[in-house]
Amino acid sequence: MDGGSARRISSFIGGKALPAEGELFEDINPATGEVVALVQAASAAQVDAAVQAARAALRGPWGKMTVDQRAKAMHAIADGIEARSEEFLRAEILDTGKPVSMASHLDIPRGAANFRAFAEVLKHTPGEAFPFVAPDGRDALNYSLRGPRGVIAVICPWNLPLLLMTWKVGPALACGNTVVVKPSEETPATAALLAEVIRDAGIPEGVYNVVQGGGPNAAGQWLTEHPGVDGITFTGETRTGEAIMCAAAKGVRPVSFELGGKNAGVIFADADMEAALEQAARAVFMNGGQVCLQTERLYVQRPVFEEFVAGLKAKAEALVPGNPFDKGTTFGPLIPSDHPAKVLGYYQKAAAGGAEVVTGGGRLEMPGALAGGNWVQPTIWTGLSDDSPVVREEIFGPCVHIAPFDEEEEVMSRANDTPYGLASMLWTQDVSRAHRVAAQLEAGITWVNSWFVRDLRTAFGGMKASGIGREGGVHGLEFYTETRNICVKL
Ligand code: NDP
Repeated sequence: MDGGSARRISSFIGGKALPAEGELFEDINPATGEVVALVQAASAAQVDAAVQAARAALRGPWGKMTVDQRAKAMHAIADGIEARSEEFLRAEILDTGKPVSMASHLDIPRGAANFRAFAEVLKHTPGEAFPFVAPDGRDALNYSLRGPRGVIAVICPWNLPLLLMTWKVGPALACGNTVVVKPSEETPATAALLAEVIRDAGIPEGVYNVVQGGGPNAAGQWLTEHPGVDGITFTGETRTGEAIMCAAAKGVRPVSFELGGKNAGVIFADADMEAALEQAARAVFMNGGQVCLQTERLYVQRPVFEEFVAGLKAKAEALVPGNPFDKGTTFGPLIPSDHPAKVLGYYQKAAAGGAEVVTGGGRLEMPGALAGGNWVQPTIWTGLSDDSPVVREEIFGPCVHIAPFDEEEEVMSRANDTPYGLASMLWTQDVSRAHRVAAQLEAGITWVNSWFVRDLRTAFGGMKASGIGREGGVHGLEFYTETRNICVKL
């Protein structure tokens, strides 16, 4: 096992890594349970210093750069990530236990792509100007100027650490803001590595700061409560979003939230069954089910129900759990050490609630060094009612409930009967039905005959309890910039 000896990770403030001393917490490899790093937890004073550094950087050379200059800087950061991609890959795998086959194709390349995409968006975003005649008959010109919002707090979860962090840091910096990032305490490494890349790309000190540590009563809460923060962008659980919204109320600061989900997939009888099974297996089990867009509820039209359940069972049983550094591994552990207890709690609830356990349903016993990791079995249930907690609540594990349906209208109302509205997936070869159903599904994103593909220029975010606002392409400008209206009498 490529475990790595315990190293030190620290916060990064005003262009410098803090000494890794004071209060330290353990960074655990979820595949083995081994400690891979000791992490310095930022104090309240250090969070304050990070915000002050970010404010000062707004007034420095960063604040005077043109859009083109900032775009060049964004590409330099992307180049830096690519040049050190092996280090990013190793750090991400040690923190998350995700298979190298996934991290090398998704997490790390997207980390670089997020900077390139937003550099280009900003360069090509048009402004607006309206010549008009004022009531006194004189000509006037009314136009808008977009500027950075200021200091942005970026609070990230542990499931796709580099990908989700850069998804926010990219547009924030491209728009001319400065940031203070609070990664999850479960996955501190890639935020620290990114600090080195950003420093080496020649970005002025204070533009990118990282405060390591926990959420409640720690770096996360102190950051969101800090009056020097001008906006908070957060990805995580809906409940945490509620707490952050309360913190943001003081000073009426704007938020951009990407929150939890209980995403539905709908398989009509005319679907391309092979493709639907292939993608449904990804949608349920990728990253150990720890993807916000993951499908935890599947509705399958009755004529193909048995065939689909058997097909997905075969896919689940063909997954290869193992050392994440092995190229053949396709299934990883849960990430936080306390997550198996939550997921296994739902496995027990399902069994107690009378579910038929099609496959899985328990802990996954692993050999050797992996025995101490957070492993649970890929799991499929049928037979639960729509109001079962297993079918209503976000589990965030490698599991799915599959229910049969008969009619289009019926399945629409069942799929939409949830407080969440993040993502959905539907499979049919009937083009009219595809458009009709996609327009009715209450979700920020709906995949038709596909899953987890998207052009970064499109809007991303959730409806209902799954989020506030949209990021991606020009949509993020609403949050990452302030628009000033200027009217000139000529
Ligand atoms: P959490 O909400 O527990 O944590 C997210 C981040 O917020 C962490 O950095 C955490 O710190 C921090 N945090 C926790 N409490 C506070 C607080 N009071 N003030 C400030 N910061 C705080 O989410 P998870 O990390 O458990 O991530 C899983 C969740 O994220 C799932 O619900 C999933 O659906 C959602 N998610 C949504 C996505 C989307 O795009 N909609 C994408 C990915 C995930 P720490 O953990 O260090 O305590």
